[in-house]
Amino acid sequence: MKTLDDLNDIEGKLVLLRLDLNVPVNDEGQVTDTTRIDRVKDTVLELKDKGARIAIFSYLGRPKGKDPKYSLSFMPSVLKDRWGIDVEFVDDCLKKPVGDICLMENVRFYEEEGACTPEHTAKLAGGHGDIFVNDAFSVAHRNHCSIVGLAHALPAYIGRSMQAELEALESALGDPDRPVAAIVGGAKISTKLDVLNNLVEKVDILILGGGMANTFLYAMGAELRNSLCEKDMKDKALAIFEKAEEAGCAIMLPSDGKAATGFSAGADYDTVSMTAVPNDRMVLDIGDQSIQSICAILDQCKTVIWNGPMGAFEIEPFDEGTVKIAQYAADKVKLGDLKVIAGGGDTVSALAHAGVVNDMTYVSTAGGAFLEWMEGKDLPALQALEMMDEDN
Ligand code: AMP
Repeated sequence: MKTLDDLNDIEGKLVLLRLDLNVPVNDEGQVTDTTRIDRVKDTVLELKDKGARIAIFSYLGRPKGKDPKYSLSFMPSVLKDRWGIDVEFVDDCLKKPVGDICLMENVRFYEEEGACTPEHTAKLAGGHGDIFVNDAFSVAHRNHCSIVGLAHALPAYIGRSMQAELEALESALGDPDRPVAAIVGGAKISTKLDVLNNLVEKVDILILGGGMANTFLYAMGAELRNSLCEKDMKDKALAIFEKAEEAGCAIMLPSDGKAATGFSAGADYDTVSMTAVPNDRMVLDIGDQSIQSICAILDQCKTVIWNGPMGAFEIEPFDEGTVKIAQYAADKVKLGDLKVIAGGGDTVSALAHAGVVNDMTYVSTAGGAFLEWMEGKDLPALQALEMMDEDN
């Protein structure tokens, strides 16, 4: 894919820049997490320094038609605050861009956006755009006009944030330093079957935790009592064991867990063997022995890809497994002994809770796109950008 290094002589040209400014906004209208805005600052400033005019396209939420609740009109002042530059607002994404840098209204105000029709793409490009830059990995799984359509319609490049994301992902599952481990936790295996099936073919060891590990233990004959467990997924779990064995991937399951009286903060618990969970108890976190075993595995690894918490990390003390492993991994990253690439679902908030979100090698803010990439799927945005490269 072409990067901004390949983009020269753009003085006065109009760059259509796809970003993901779909950030969390509280009831007072304040942006509560500016990570996505901050990560694309370099791309915007680099294009500006090269003399380009920029029209930014993004979405916010899932509007049905032109719903003012999802307008991006509040965003220029936030961008000014985070990027230190003036950004004008254009109240319709099909209108002509204005000024040196402008933000176009929510692309999802048109339902044609999601249908990726050439007609709507042509209206978006408007005959004004000279170049397309995509710096929104988090929407790379969407086959939309402003993502895929524009990549076909104009000379297309990836921005710096997308470039960093792709380099991080490549270093985790493309061509990783080995041994490489995957840590997968979270509630259920049913939502992560494709992820697990792909990972066993790519990594040397798959470390399972959280509620999903219960289903694997159940498939092996353990009684999990009141713990979260998808009994109807037993055959799928057994098939993953089989596939892992064929692929030479070891699977590690927790040996002990914190078995509580209820799903609530501060609930009474005992640390028990996962094969001897007492009646009326539910396992809400991995135990100390499991934490130690996982840390010992991390000592042997060069690369880790992580998705999902090891337990019910939102309620203390059942956050301990996730927090201790995250902190142990972060220390190894700081020493240069380990690369950790993490993302998807609740992973970012779990790492933030552990206070190490900035200490990992790379933490992806992409939810669905990160998971689809972990599933080994071809992402439409990347395919379009690659095809563009072949065409030229
Ligand atoms: P996911 O979105 O699949 O990554 O799942 C994250 C959710 O799984 C979090 O809300 C955790 O509280 C929950 N979770 C993880 N482990 C357990 C467990 N042992 N029992 C109940 N919930 C869990």
